[in-house]
Amino acid sequence: MKEYPTFVTHLECSYTGKKYPADQLHGLSEAGKPLLVRYDLEALGKSISKDDLKDRLPEFWRYREFLPVRQSENVVRLGELMTPILPARKTQAKLGCGEILIKDEGRLPTGSFKARGLALAVAMAKELGVTRMAMPTNGNAGAALAAYCSRADIETFVFCPEDTPKVNIEEIAFQGAKTFLANGYINDCGRIVGEGKEKMNWFDTSTLKEPYRIEGKKTMGLELAEQLNWQVPDVILYPTGGGTGLIGMWKAFAELEAIGWIGSKRPRMVAVQATGCAPIVKAYDEGTRHAEPWQDAHTIASGIRVPVAVGDFLILDAVRESNGFAVAVTDEAINEAHKECAKEEGILLCPEGAATLAALKQELISGRIKKDEQVLLFNCATGLKYPMPSSHERIDLSKPIDYDFIANC
Ligand SMILES: *Cc1c(COP(=O)(O)O)cnc(C)c1O
Repeated sequence: MKEYPTFVTHLECSYTGKKYPADQLHGLSEAGKPLLVRYDLEALGKSISKDDLKDRLPEFWRYREFLPVRQSENVVRLGELMTPILPARKTQAKLGCGEILIKDEGRLPTGSFKARGLALAVAMAKELGVTRMAMPTNGNAGAALAAYCSRADIETFVFCPEDTPKVNIEEIAFQGAKTFLANGYINDCGRIVGEGKEKMNWFDTSTLKEPYRIEGKKTMGLELAEQLNWQVPDVILYPTGGGTGLIGMWKAFAELEAIGWIGSKRPRMVAVQATGCAPIVKAYDEGTRHAEPWQDAHTIASGIRVPVAVGDFLILDAVRESNGFAVAVTDEAINEAHKECAKEEGILLCPEGAATLAALKQELISGRIKKDEQVLLFNCATGLKYPMPSSHERIDLSKPIDYDFIANC
């Protein structure tokens, strides 16, 4: 496999700025905050041009210089293709707003954008000699971890809240992870992983508790900028659980500006949550930099049912610096947007993706999103993993076929 130059200089505590050496295994910083990977951006910028990308495969490994993996032999591939950006023209006409674009991440391996983060986390774990990984998950992260680890010959333990969608539980187990259901929330599962570290000798792959999932999610920002010809949209609506993607994209835009590939314009970053679990929205509204744990979290959008986010301040900083905001939508609004988008656009969203459309509708009315702004929504997973309301009719073959009935359905 071709080797690429790498530019990682060190890691840095996202809270205190304290530096940590690269090429060593790290979890959280001493301050208990996420670590961010830092690069020699000047050298990076000199080593690659926008044109160089044209000759590379349409997959996110095309951004290798922006990523931490040093040895290509540690790259674990399952087909990390660039995901399409689809215009939603009918919805745009109906809402009378600026261009609506949907980045459909459901095409990635294991059917969700968790593949981006976990492909990187697993490649780095392999590079740093990890042989056993563990994680708490609401579903998609566990599936991606299981798939990449099985492929990389790394043993995995995955802990899910017991109301995790069944399809997720089974896909995790089926793809080779030792899978457990616990009668609590994702933070309770996180405690099992954290407290078991010594005894089980596993690497804690929880959201933001290792430094590389952010780097994987960063490729969403690099990719969408490239796809939009090095322009960024006016607004990005991101369904926010742990916030890895929002934080990762924010980092991508800063790195792209540092090497002169984009200007200083940033999308307004909007963190979308569900009214049944909206810790970031509450903190945003109250003007604080940290979110309090959300009690009795509930929403059909399980990917954003995250009561505690370690990177809360990183999400809130990006939202505020970008002049965006945080907003919650109801499950009813999610269901309605889910159905409309499937029926009218032929795009089967996941509930979390539908939440971003629901938020767009709501905020066009409130005026926080302007009618002339170009908006990019994230559909984070394939809609096929989620239950759909039943909406078909039956035909009884023991009777004559009633075509009038068929025509009028
Ligand atoms: C994980 C997940 C999210 C939330 O992503 P974060 O970057 O962790 O905030 C949203 N939707 C789906 C389907 C997910 O799996």
